[in-house]
Amino acid sequence: MDYFPIFLRLANEPVLVIGGGEVAARKIELLLRSGAKVTVVAPALIDSLRQTAITGRIAHIAHEFQPQHLDGMRLAIAATDKHSVNAWVAHQAERRNIPVNVVDDRELSRFIVPAIVDRSPVIVAVGSSGDAPVLTRRLREKFESLLPQGLGALARLAGKLRPVIKARVEKPAARRRFWENFFDGPIASDVLAGRLDADKELTELNINDVLRSVNATDTPPGEVVLVGAGPGDPGLLTLRALRALQNADIVLYDRLVSEEVLDLARRDAELVYVGKAAGKAHVSQDEINALLIKLARAGKRVCRLKGGDPFIFGRGGEELEALAAEGIRFEVVPGVTAAAGCAAYAGIPLTHRDHAQALTLVTGHGKDETDNIDWQALARPGQTAVFYMGLGHLQRIVANLRKHGAPAERAAAVIEQGTRSGQRVVTATLADLAAKVDEAGVESPALLIVGEVTRLHETLRWFNAGAAGDVSQGLFALTHISHGRRSA
Ligand code: SAH
Repeated sequence: MDYFPIFLRLANEPVLVIGGGEVAARKIELLLRSGAKVTVVAPALIDSLRQTAITGRIAHIAHEFQPQHLDGMRLAIAATDKHSVNAWVAHQAERRNIPVNVVDDRELSRFIVPAIVDRSPVIVAVGSSGDAPVLTRRLREKFESLLPQGLGALARLAGKLRPVIKARVEKPAARRRFWENFFDGPIASDVLAGRLDADKELTELNINDVLRSVNATDTPPGEVVLVGAGPGDPGLLTLRALRALQNADIVLYDRLVSEEVLDLARRDAELVYVGKAAGKAHVSQDEINALLIKLARAGKRVCRLKGGDPFIFGRGGEELEALAAEGIRFEVVPGVTAAAGCAAYAGIPLTHRDHAQALTLVTGHGKDETDNIDWQALARPGQTAVFYMGLGHLQRIVANLRKHGAPAERAAAVIEQGTRSGQRVVTATLADLAAKVDEAGVESPALLIVGEVTRLHETLRWFNAGAAGDVSQGLFALTHISHGRRSA
């Protein structure tokens, strides 16, 4: 980090601006918004600034810059069009330890001014340390469209409620929960949507109503949010999943949850691994159920995070049955299941009018002939079958399909580490699938897709295609960076 980001309180503090043109005028406008006492030094001012000076909102020294103009100043901004003058200002300010900004010249600047989105008292500041101003501006525009106008009013309301809540709700954890509920609650959404003018109507807002509406007590009931984390790429999380991760006191996660997704949990949330290794239970299902119940009873907000979708080969149902039996509150947030995620990132449409009119999700884990899988149905043409947990059982799966009538040339694909930067796709036919997968050394997690749609991978591949000299290499490289892989 090359710059230390701060918000500076400048109300009634003297600030010097050197220069009397458009650039100076823009900085002055911003400074005035923060309540600074602005003095502008310039032999001449543009019209708008002259008007501002006449009304007394800024002081004007009609002179060339002199070092003594800096005396007593908190901050200085040099905005003349003469490099030598700007450099002189910067030098003199540095000598006096006055933070100085030279507009569009980071070499001469002690501080730089970020792009801002102003929803006062909420201010979003974006900077790129001077490297990419256009990118910064784009980000600013994104935030501008993302942040509701009512955000400022909501923050002001929260500011007024703060002392009241602090007095009434003693425990910090309960207070934090109050605020989370408050910002998720009906009053906040009314303020954000402009249906309630909190600035005007707060006096009539009964504080008790506010408290009741968000259930502020010192012994809040715990809850479990069962969240689908998707197949790995954190970009595939839902907004609700993100919120659950950010609200959680504790996150219980499985082996298939990627590190990048875990990185999105609230910083002081406790992360607990309850996954299984190679089919063998580390923590038994009963133990996980008991742990969920215990934590919720203790008033914790538990995020139960599972790879893919929690209701698809995720045992989510079993865990919820245990919670329901104990009367514990829960919610479910669906996730992108491995079949959808891997297929999309491998360029394999799971259905296609020419090739597949049906889709079956199957567990490939079934022990032996006693499994209940309808192999005859799966062997028929015109459909796609996706096998989860099938890697260790490929030979048996292929043998069963063949035995029930699937031709040797039926296409299939195995996707390893789907949607992650290490994704690999092995395409084959039932005849050579096992050998090819073996040769490639595919490891778990891997998904098996059987059906003619897998042939489309050749033309529709886009992710990770760079390795084969594909045009999407640039895009792929960017994906790598944005994931910021820590483990690599
Ligand atoms: N609930 C999960 C599935 C859990 S079963 C879901 O909806 O996706 C675990 C199996 O899912 C693995 O054995 C593998 O077959 C598949 N799987 C999960 N994530 C995967 C990934 N990123 N790449 C390939 N296969 C994956």
